[in-house]
Amino acid sequence: IIRIRGLEKWFGKHQVLRGIHLEVLPGEKLVIIGPSGSGKSTLIRCLNGLEEFQQGEVVVDGVSLKEAKNLSTVRREVGMVFQQFNLFPHMSVLQNVTLAPLRVRGLGPEEARRKALALLERVGIADQAHKYPAQLSGGQQQRVAIARALAMEPKVMLFDEPTSALDPEMVGEVLGVMRDLAKSGMTMLVVTHEMAFAREVADRVVFMDQGEVVEEGRPEEVFTSPRQERTRSFLQRLL
Ligand code: ATP
Ligand code: MG
Repeated sequence: IIRIRGLEKWFGKHQVLRGIHLEVLPGEKLVIIGPSGSGKSTLIRCLNGLEEFQQGEVVVDGVSLKEAKNLSTVRREVGMVFQQFNLFPHMSVLQNVTLAPLRVRGLGPEEARRKALALLERVGIADQAHKYPAQLSGGQQQRVAIARALAMEPKVMLFDEPTSALDPEMVGEVLGVMRDLAKSGMTMLVVTHEMAFAREVADRVVFMDQGEVVEEGRPEEVFTSPRQERTRSFLQRLL
């Protein structure tokens, strides 16, 4: 459902992606790991047009991101969840979740509301629907952010360190929602340092370093017997 070929990205003279090749099949769960500055966020942002790139090809569900006119089509298909939840602070939880379906999908208010409440139920916070983001815990806010992304019925969900900004006791509730989402068959790309989650949920783990995919494989392969020295030393530093 995603095909990345020879993707290269510079910020000015600084090259941050150096020829990435990656394919993601429908329903696949990919976990991306790697040191700070290796280009994980940049890669993920290239997949929904949040970043432009200079070389290569990104195709999402048959639509190439090279042509700018395709951007809004692709963004509709790709949900994104960030480290900082990025909710709209002046809107209630319910308004946060209904906004895009109302504006972009053209749903009627009643239908948007019904769908949003069902999604909030699914992430376990239907009872918070009328609160504002600032009145929620970090874990609850992140679950709203997930519900908001799902409200667009995306074909792919991208997560960029969704639990890194959370207090430890809230990490589990967000990973739980992501685990359920994985079970439901969603295609997911997740940048995370949660290795237990990666082991359990990932079909494939991708290790990035200095703008390259250094190694990819099944989690048990990459974590237990990495082929590359760079992967090995990264994993050792994590322990
Ligand atoms: P982290 O684990 O810290 O989130 P990362 O793997 O997500 O790191 P990126 O955020 O993709 O790494 O950054 C890759 C490189 O690109 C870094 O060297 C970073 O300094 C640089 N970079 C990222 N965003 C920009 C920007 N907007 N302008 C200039 N350089 C940038
Ligand atoms: Mg990052």
